[in-house]
Amino acid sequence: MDIARGIGDFLTLKRNFHTLRGQDLRDWQRSRCNELVRFAVSASPLYRRLYAGRDLENFEELPTIDKAVATEGFDDLNTAGLHRSEVEAFALGMEASGDQLRYLRGPDGRDFVIGMSSGTSGSRGLVVTERAISEGLPFVFAARSGLPIRLLPWRIVFMLRVFSKAFQDINAPLIRLDYVNTMTPVQTILDKVGRMRAKILMAPPSMLRILADHAPSMPSLRLLVSYAEVLEEADEAAIRSAFDLPLIQIYQASEGPIGSACRLGSLHINEDLVYVELLDGEGRPVTEPGQKARRMLVTNLYNRVQPLIRYELNDLVELGEPCPCGSGFRTIRRVIGRADDVLWFASAEGGRQYVFPDLVSRWIISASGLVSDYAIAQAGDDSLELRLSVTRDEAQAKALADVLASLRAGLERHGCLVPAIRFAGPVELPPPGMKRKRFVSIARKGT
Ligand SMILES: [Zn+2]
Repeated sequence: MDIARGIGDFLTLKRNFHTLRGQDLRDWQRSRCNELVRFAVSASPLYRRLYAGRDLENFEELPTIDKAVATEGFDDLNTAGLHRSEVEAFALGMEASGDQLRYLRGPDGRDFVIGMSSGTSGSRGLVVTERAISEGLPFVFAARSGLPIRLLPWRIVFMLRVFSKAFQDINAPLIRLDYVNTMTPVQTILDKVGRMRAKILMAPPSMLRILADHAPSMPSLRLLVSYAEVLEEADEAAIRSAFDLPLIQIYQASEGPIGSACRLGSLHINEDLVYVELLDGEGRPVTEPGQKARRMLVTNLYNRVQPLIRYELNDLVELGEPCPCGSGFRTIRRVIGRADDVLWFASAEGGRQYVFPDLVSRWIISASGLVSDYAIAQAGDDSLELRLSVTRDEAQAKALADVLASLRAGLERHGCLVPAIRFAGPVELPPPGMKRKRFVSIARKGT
């Protein structure tokens, strides 16, 4: 690995975070986007077709792409001559053999790191990163992780559902990062944290929630980092109070490092690594703090092997206030959920009314202090299935009645015709290796 280049990247990322702002930042992003578009048209048959006859300088008018386009058009989209069948076979072979530390050698002799995302939607996504870029990751991680310098050397236990070479690479002189599969038994995780005197635990919130019951067994920990799943308010509160430690978020999608926490704990968009467009239901830019975006388009500014330009990410976020840390990078107040999580109901005034998942969460949690977990599944406009776990079995009936009343009242206030709500029992754990999903729309409805 080229340490000098890594340190150069680290310093550039630090400087960008503190100096790029306002119109300068927008101009800088615009010129990077335009350059990427020109490159994509010259090197990717898919973009050449997609942008034919378009004004390439008019970035906001260019067609968007999504996971289906990137997956089905993989061969034409990538600029390294890679074929989907080969890359997928390689990724599956790594999974099957347990040897996940190999590089894929491309036709032009370059090495690539292959990541495979299962995704809750079921379609398998492939993300290709050049080895040289992946090897710079420890420095990107150091510059943007939000991990305080005073905790150096960072000894980190990093819990992942799937492993990829890209993560193994995060092992530099002052960073030791040990990977633990999320299917590892709890006792083994506790042993690992104890043995390496880990200061930092990075895990999806559903895992942090499980480990919260064992917080006293991990006294070396100084910081918790949540990533990979939506950190809901109820989970956040439960995790914070069990560990009594700071909890920060990293917002990492397979498609790029979307955001990281600053020293004050605000989640900033990595404006110099990804260009993020937040849009409302009518396609207008979301610019006001507190406003929720219905659509999120991401352009990865550095991946040229698999250019992702105006890529529709299936996430719902709420824009935050400018941060007192002084950075001009936008903040995300909350990741509300996935776009699939939005529930739809018949409106009392005719037509249909959508409800954001965070609102439904609040109706449920605020109804009863005995709720320990919940899940909602929607099969149609007029029916809803509720799962509910409570802290005390004998309180089930009372908690359920309170939650149902609160849900009905909330939906009514929101202008929805209240659907039939069926209680389906306590929350079930997802099958091993699957993401937990609190909101499930069985019949996916259009927007
Ligand atoms: Zn900040």
